[in-house]
Amino acid sequence: MRANPWETAQTQLQKAAQALSLDPLLLARLSQPDRIVEVSLPLKMDDGSVRVFSGFRVQHNNIRGPYKGGTRYHPDVDMDEVKALSFWMTMKNALVDVPFGGGKGGIAVNPKELSEGELERLTREFTRRLAPVIGPELDVPAPDVNTNGKIMDWIRDEYEKTVGHPALSVVTGKPLGAGGSEGRTEATGLGGSFALDEILRLRGVSGKGKTVAIQGFGNVGSYLARYLQKSGYKVVALSDSKSAIFSGKGFNDIDALEVFKKEHGSFAGYPAAKAIRNDEILTLPVDIVVPAALENALTADIAKGVKASVVLEMANGPTTPEAEEILRANNVTVIPDILANSGGVAVSYFEWFQNRRDERWTKAEVFKKLEKKMRAASDAVFRTARERGVTLRDAAYVVAIERLASE
Ligand code: GLU
Repeated sequence: MRANPWETAQTQLQKAAQALSLDPLLLARLSQPDRIVEVSLPLKMDDGSVRVFSGFRVQHNNIRGPYKGGTRYHPDVDMDEVKALSFWMTMKNALVDVPFGGGKGGIAVNPKELSEGELERLTREFTRRLAPVIGPELDVPAPDVNTNGKIMDWIRDEYEKTVGHPALSVVTGKPLGAGGSEGRTEATGLGGSFALDEILRLRGVSGKGKTVAIQGFGNVGSYLARYLQKSGYKVVALSDSKSAIFSGKGFNDIDALEVFKKEHGSFAGYPAAKAIRNDEILTLPVDIVVPAALENALTADIAKGVKASVVLEMANGPTTPEAEEILRANNVTVIPDILANSGGVAVSYFEWFQNRRDERWTKAEVFKKLEKKMRAASDAVFRTARERGVTLRDAAYVVAIERLASE
């Protein structure tokens, strides 16, 4: 049975609350979202027929600033998933120390089945329905699974038309020429490489030559692969939703892999690599495994077979609570999602900030600020885990919740 992500999130919160003897009022606030919005989205298809999609926006908490978080387009999107994702955004934003609360949205749709025109009309309809509850100082969407800069630009445009004034910072993750920030596309993957590097460094370990298997080759997985490869790790296995490949020598040309996948639709048939089963990717005999796809990828069954000593969670909520217990018992270090993938929203904050000040930072400036934020958050988590004798996940929640409590 598929674990319910909202239950996973609740389990994590309760555990951290106990460790902290948290104020019951704050616990009550964090246990439920502030506001839930569900909208119905009728769409005229290109063939003249009408389909109706469900859209969601959950505003979990705004103690530290405007609600902030991505919008995903996926057939499995439902209210409990979006609630969980919005909770993780509250925690992530507090942990990486940006002045945002947590929100998340999505549409239950397979965007690959829609034409470009249908996708744009659906996005604009969604934006009109959400216009009363989003805004630069209220709630700021961004890309997530299957959404990108182009979709953000449609949201920005439709929002501005609806409210009747410019509002560049109503979304982040915009294209570069349309108010986006340098480095936003690379940010989540690059941020994950900084978090991994810092945690290993604090343990006195070098990443050089360490073998890595990455599940998921979307924006996050592909940039992480590039940056790890560049910093001397050996990326030996990769998967997408349809295929998985292994190379003992390591993949050195990630750009070539991306081109191949675009042309052929998957990694199947990639030269000089061995095809492996998709469900093997997280149990390969490597040093580091990286779930970078969707929730619940690492179940108890898979956890029992994990041979790596480190799990770097680049997806949101990839590890079920049962799997987590098994990994802990087996001394596998889990670098939690709210730390590992917080680089995306960190640069979203930089974008929002630049928009509001009419500034344009160079890529080098953005990367330097990102590195500083990721290392600071990783240090705080590592130190708290040591001091309290808890896992990195519990420590990450402790740091985040202490910041929320001090507001
Ligand atoms: N969707 C990303 C996440 O899950 C980024 C959110 C944002 O930039 O607001 O963290």
